[in-house]
Amino acid sequence: MVSPRRDSADSSAEPLNQPPGVSTLSVHAGEDRQKATNSLTDPIVCASTYSFANTQAVIDYIQKKEKRGEYGRYGNPNEWVVERKLAALEGGEEAIVYSSGMAAIVGLLMTKLSSGDEVVFFDECYHRSREFCSKHLARFGVVTRQVKACDYEAMEQAITPRTRMLVSESPTNPHLSVVDLERFATIGRKHKVETLIDATLATPYNLQPISYGVDYVLHSATKYLGGHNDLLAGVIVGGAEQLADVRKMRGILGSINSAHNLYLLERGLKTFELRMQRHNENGQKVAEFLAAHPRVEKVLYPGLDSHPYHELAREQMRGFGGLITFFVKDADWRATADVVDRVKLARIAPSLGGVETLIEQPLVMSYFEVPVADRQRFGIPDHMIRLSCGIEDTRDLIDDLAQALDG
Ligand SMILES: *Cc1c(COP(=O)(O)O)cnc(C)c1O
Repeated sequence: MVSPRRDSADSSAEPLNQPPGVSTLSVHAGEDRQKATNSLTDPIVCASTYSFANTQAVIDYIQKKEKRGEYGRYGNPNEWVVERKLAALEGGEEAIVYSSGMAAIVGLLMTKLSSGDEVVFFDECYHRSREFCSKHLARFGVVTRQVKACDYEAMEQAITPRTRMLVSESPTNPHLSVVDLERFATIGRKHKVETLIDATLATPYNLQPISYGVDYVLHSATKYLGGHNDLLAGVIVGGAEQLADVRKMRGILGSINSAHNLYLLERGLKTFELRMQRHNENGQKVAEFLAAHPRVEKVLYPGLDSHPYHELAREQMRGFGGLITFFVKDADWRATADVVDRVKLARIAPSLGGVETLIEQPLVMSYFEVPVADRQRFGIPDHMIRLSCGIEDTRDLIDDLAQALDG
């Protein structure tokens, strides 16, 4: 595993004798100890462009590859801090931050795939990632193959000499399947194909894919990393060399964040470990409550003994996050919607990973106009509810769900 200290040479976390812990990294990594204005926090630099003292300064910047501002589409000082912090948290060499999780996925795949290349997906994946590949990359001659999630033999069989990337989420959304990262990365290395894990649901607190040999880790930073339901961002972490062309491509795509947005992300990250501990605790206790409730048919949560990937999740993950999928017993879509509508504390909204608990019926929120056959193929039945536990008091969340289910 790459040392998490590599990219934070000037950070306050550096003088420690032992490798810093998660919270120390999330508070200090990537930040200069003494800042431009002597403020404790990072100043928000609102600049679309950066000036040079003279012509020689421009030439030095180009020839010596100095790290400084040039034009805002290529980066900004607030971004450098957040990128170093995220690389440190993930245990990777380099992080590239994007304006959303989808921009990060598009940015990576657009850079790495050319006409005639193939990409293999585990089929339980974020519906927009699937759509980008099957509908849009297809227009540029890229072939997408989908195999059943966690079917490693099928994945290996789908690899051809044109395969360039293996892609999966772990845990998957909304089915919470857990990918055996060692197996996944080994298949990639054996066939000389790069591997990408979207670890949005796990976060670097619960899972460290790079330590298993995965090439790229992707997050929708809109979720747990930002953590407050107030920003959109995405990030890719991986090797510096492998990401050099990806960064250049981002400069062309222009999917960059404003300094304000990056400051919000940096501020959200300060409490990352504390929030994750509560998300994990709420997720586990609420999942246990739901699993024991007579109106609940089934609960999908990797922290439950009943979960098909529980043992693997326990080996790979520190905790299991705040996302729970459950099914209301003997309920059609309307009776399921009634449960959702009776909940008082959780808010009805898409997204996950923020401090506020959110609830949604995937059929209605994301698949309402999708044909029944496709919904069945994607595993989205009418009586499925997705709950993203925030950081409220566990007791209050459980009381609220109890009255909604009993009502
Ligand atoms: C939300 C999400 C995305 C997309 O991220 P945005 O920030 O909304 O663009 C990708 N993957 C997973 C697993 C997600 O939950």
